[in-house]
Amino acid sequence: MATAKELLHMSHLKATKPRIKILEYLMAHHNHPTVDTIFTELAQDEQLNKATIYNTLNTLINVGIVIEIKNGDNSSHYDYFIKPHFHIICKNCGKISDVFYPDFDKIENKMRYEAEKQTGFIASSSHLEIYGLCQNCKNK
Ligand code: ZN
Ligand code: MN
Repeated sequence: MATAKELLHMSHLKATKPRIKILEYLMAHHNHPTVDTIFTELAQDEQLNKATIYNTLNTLINVGIVIEIKNGDNSSHYDYFIKPHFHIICKNCGKISDVFYPDFDKIENKMRYEAEKQTGFIASSSHLEIYGLCQNCKNK
């Protein structure tokens, strides 16, 4: 598996310290953190203020390494997204769970292709989510 540095180089991004730190954090944690969570976890590093974290995440989103997930609590959650997966989100408590499905990227590519064919758009990204009630909330 590629290191954070290698991924940045592959994406034609300069491997700056904030980018490496934040990408390494996201690669090691699958907790779908918010900017605040990342800030708290990496706070000992003085170079990382919230604006830097926010800007760095957007840079990583633009090259497709990271995705932004909204779970309905008005905050954005972030996720390392090299291994294709999708999310199921609890409509009650906002819990975000990973669903790994090998054909997922093929299906999403097909949907983008179909969207282009029917509308004449050029599709650049897509984002599919499933909503429901998590194990805790469904038992209440
Ligand atoms: Zn729930
Ligand atoms: Mn995820």
